[in-house]
Amino acid sequence: MGRQNHNSTSQLTYIILSNYRHRIFATFIVDTDKQLWIADRHSEHVQCARGQAVLSAGKITFTLTLLSLVVSAITNQSTGYCPESESWKVVASALAEANLVYPFDFTSKFVFRKCEVCSTTNIVKYDWFYCGVCDSNLPKEWNFDL
Ligand SMILES: [Zn+2]
Repeated sequence: MGRQNHNSTSQLTYIILSNYRHRIFATFIVDTDKQLWIADRHSEHVQCARGQAVLSAGKITFTLTLLSLVVSAITNQSTGYCPESESWKVVASALAEANLVYPFDFTSKFVFRKCEVCSTTNIVKYDWFYCGVCDSNLPKEWNFDL
């Protein structure tokens, strides 16, 4: 599939060398082979995943310390894929596989639901399961297909 230049370690090195600073913000996805992929923070998750299905997706922040590169913040914020926060488990194992130091869970969690009446993607806050556009009830169960 010609993904050589897209490998997370080389991509990460590229991002660090090209914008050397204390903190690095990026986009990530975990593909169906449980591999972590990282792209510039301005790129779309769907682009980062080459249009393929993912197990998780979101935003990631790296902090460069004297000793190592630490994942200082990570979220499941991807309106392209709307992953469940329960996808953390697969994200954690992909981060471990990449030899990164990471937090014990997503540092911010987003709850996404698709309105089954008007098809709007909603971010549910404070357990308020109502569509922001048409006010219909939103399902309690995650309802996006991978
Ligand atoms: Zn709606």
